[in-house]
Amino acid sequence: MDIRLYNTLSRSKEVFVPIKQGKVGVYSCGPTVYNYAHIGNLRTYVFMDILRRIFEYNGYKVKSVMNITDVGHLLSDADDGDDKMAKAAKEQNKTPEEIAEYYSSVFFKDIARLNIKRPTITPKATDHIQEMINIVVDLIEKGYGYETDDGIYFDISKFENYGKLSHMNLEDQLAGARVNVNTGKRHPADFAIWKKAEPNHIMQWQSPWGMGYPGWHIECTAMSNKYLGNLFDIHTGGIDHVPIHHENEIAQAEAWLGQKAVNYWMHSEFMLVDGGKMSKSLGNTWTVENLVERGYTPMEFRYLCLNTQYRQKLNFTWASMDGARTSYQRLCKHLYEHKVSDVATDKAVIDKYLDEFHQAINDDLNVPMAMGVLHKIVKLPLSKDVYNAVLQMDKVFALDFDKITPPAQPMVEAPQEVLDMATARQQARKDKNWAESDRLRDEIAKAGFKIKDTANGFELEKL
Ligand code: AMP
Ligand code: ZN
Repeated sequence: MDIRLYNTLSRSKEVFVPIKQGKVGVYSCGPTVYNYAHIGNLRTYVFMDILRRIFEYNGYKVKSVMNITDVGHLLSDADDGDDKMAKAAKEQNKTPEEIAEYYSSVFFKDIARLNIKRPTITPKATDHIQEMINIVVDLIEKGYGYETDDGIYFDISKFENYGKLSHMNLEDQLAGARVNVNTGKRHPADFAIWKKAEPNHIMQWQSPWGMGYPGWHIECTAMSNKYLGNLFDIHTGGIDHVPIHHENEIAQAEAWLGQKAVNYWMHSEFMLVDGGKMSKSLGNTWTVENLVERGYTPMEFRYLCLNTQYRQKLNFTWASMDGARTSYQRLCKHLYEHKVSDVATDKAVIDKYLDEFHQAINDDLNVPMAMGVLHKIVKLPLSKDVYNAVLQMDKVFALDFDKITPPAQPMVEAPQEVLDMATARQQARKDKNWAESDRLRDEIAKAGFKIKDTANGFELEKL
């Protein structure tokens, strides 16, 4: 069955054609390890994981590479400001290596908790400085790179198709570029491929241009090329990378290689919180640990992510997290009943659902539609075969359906409006709106249910 993917380059869904039969090489921009990954970052990594699992479901052997940025990612995209790693090191009175080590290890624990498979290779930028220098040398030789007082820059006017990913022409780029603080640049939108270091800069390496450190974009070109070759199948990242980071990667890689480097570019949309941006100043950059502290499980968060297709914005609210929890727990209880059943179901019936599931995931990762198939199949009469089919689907969902245990309470089927009221009541309790919480308790009772608060949320019993 064909796999169709939305390619940001063509702005259309394309049938995936591998470079090598049965194999796929994927490069994903990984974390800058100066801080904890927040739930927005993790949404993007869940998308990358789903992409990999879908290829595996289709019988492909996947080689996935995700870089660890431990140098060169500056605070500003305009090639100025501190290095994020150096800033964190100064603030925490640690070395950049200690900072990188600590946040990388938390990152790998976080992704493991969310059943995000560890990529096949996770190269660190600081282990590839020589490869980056080699590319910079070649770019200068080919006339694309030029030296200024503070670094080596890529001349975007030399690269004919600059802007092809974000569909911005050179004029748009120039208009959008910030005031040219760096007077040595030929064009305001030229970007640094190498920066010369001030003597007190924490991280610096010997280079043909004196002591310095790499630009952030060149890292991804060096590492993707080293591990996946001159042309590879898929490059992924968050949507914010389209206009600068990936545009620059395309320009420098194609200029360097004299050929196309990537066949499909895929980007996941952002996660919002309460309808707005996530930011430290708003105090809404939640981590997995924060979710666990509030009593949610990592699987409930993964379930929340899977209910929105990767190209749609996902608005995170605590109420939506409660909704995900209720729905996931209900699903697990229901599945348990299938698991312990010894009744069989006609194979043709099961295969029809599995085929529908397969069609959905192969249509540009339509996981919400695949979830719809899951919700339909669990409504079939209780059967072990239904459970086994769900385990098959769980190779992609990875929601731990193989680990479900007997529910603590007997299963109560409550109508959706009662569940909605129960979820709203939980929110009211969190907001300390006791009047609203009492009102909802009475409404729920009128609908024939008694609500009990538990450590993980609530339980409903028929009155
Ligand atoms: P960073 O560590 O800042 O380089 O970001 C790591 C990944 O998370 C990148 O692929 C970003 O595009 C992505 N990302 C950053 N913020 C969000 C967000 N709010 N929602 C989804 N993805 C995000
Ligand atoms: Zn990158």
